[in-house]
Amino acid sequence: MGAVLFLDLDRFKHINDSLGHPVGDLLLKSIAHRLKESLRDIDTVARLGGDEFIILLPGLQTAGDAESIATKLLNSFSAPFQAGEHEFFISTSIGAALFPTDGGDVATLIKNADAAMYRSKAKGRNRVESYTRDLTAQASERIALEHELRRAIERNEFTLSYQPKVSLLTQRLVGAEALIRWSHPTFGDVPPERFIPLAEENGMILQIGEWVLERACQQLHQWNQTYDIFGSLSVNLAGAQLRQPNLVNRIEQLLTEYRLQPGCLQLEITENFIMSQTEEALSVLHRLKNLGVQLAIDDFGTGYSSLSYLKRLPLDILKIDQSFVRGLPDDPHDAAIVRAIIALGRSMQLTVIAEGVENLEQQQFLADEGCEQIQGYIVSLPLPPEEFCATFLRITVSDFSDSTARKPSL
Ligand code: C2E
Ligand code: MG
Ligand code: MG
Repeated sequence: MGAVLFLDLDRFKHINDSLGHPVGDLLLKSIAHRLKESLRDIDTVARLGGDEFIILLPGLQTAGDAESIATKLLNSFSAPFQAGEHEFFISTSIGAALFPTDGGDVATLIKNADAAMYRSKAKGRNRVESYTRDLTAQASERIALEHELRRAIERNEFTLSYQPKVSLLTQRLVGAEALIRWSHPTFGDVPPERFIPLAEENGMILQIGEWVLERACQQLHQWNQTYDIFGSLSVNLAGAQLRQPNLVNRIEQLLTEYRLQPGCLQLEITENFIMSQTEEALSVLHRLKNLGVQLAIDDFGTGYSSLSYLKRLPLDILKIDQSFVRGLPDDPHDAAIVRAIIALGRSMQLTVIAEGVENLEQQQFLADEGCEQIQGYIVSLPLPPEEFCATFLRITVSDFSDSTARKPSL
């Protein structure tokens, strides 16, 4: 009897993105070393690519052996890894497939161990899962999803929902965030957390991102015809979009085409991406800033920010990640982190906004600490455009046939 283990490191991308590939490489080496140390001479450890390892365990006595070896490997990750001058704690997700029960050839065994690894990720990472037959169905579902994603734009299956952002000082609307929705005829509503990572992996994110940008600008233009200017509309940008050489020109083009004040558009970029790209990102961000669009750093607190680098970025807004807001006000760690982020943002003259605000206690805490804006279910769910404008936008009193005639003060 034998087994194939499929290991995928948890959140390795964060480390690679924020500290750079050379540090990531050192960490991979250190992990490979630890894996080899924990196994027998007859076992094989191989790096498949990226942060994925495959382990071959021949000569096993019972089916339980594979799982206990996998668990031993998992536990070996509890000690920190050394990578150059850095020390890291990282975990891994492991999938196991048995020979010959779960497959008689290399391709099947690897595919099944991979499917088991995915389940380990789905169940919360840092665990071992063994292959079972139902996993084959799930793996085909992923492939089907990817296939359907490629057609979603032409089939008009995407829409944007809009979630209001509100000022804690004036209680008034200061803007909205555009969030993509995918409604598939047979899969139903697929949440962005399921298809955005997939789109980032297969490159589809560029087309999707372009669709989102154009649709958001179009919508803003349309609202500008009828309603008071309400602040800025945020659009989430994926890292790959920022790496596109024509991004700045494209945005400039959209602003002209839809006659938008640049300040009406806000681009949200995740902390993880910003921290990964350093010099390159810096120049793109400066060019965007020169256009006059606003720049926000999204999901702040979840990445590895270099504060000296942060200082050099032409940012306007800092968005506190919802994972810290959730525990407010009772969780002392969340409270301390949020307090520190607000102080940091304010001292850097950034507008601080908190996302995922769901109740009054959270809102009160944020207001007391000097957070300027909030977004979350306490104000509203993300809404389809018709509902958003009916609920939150005010019809302009005087009728302007040409919206550019208005001079909004933002
Ligand atoms: P995000 O940009 O951090 O967006 C905030 C997410 O929090 C949204 O999830 C929103 O619906 C959800 N949310 C808002 N208020 C609350 C609240 O009070 N409580 C809780 N629990 N959640 C709240 P959604 O729409 O599912 O989007 C998830 C993520 O997918 C976004 O996180 C963003 O990273 C990504 N995403 C969404 N639309 C786009 C897009 O057009 N382009 C790109 N690149 N990414 C997108
Ligand atoms: Mg966002
Ligand atoms: Mg966020």
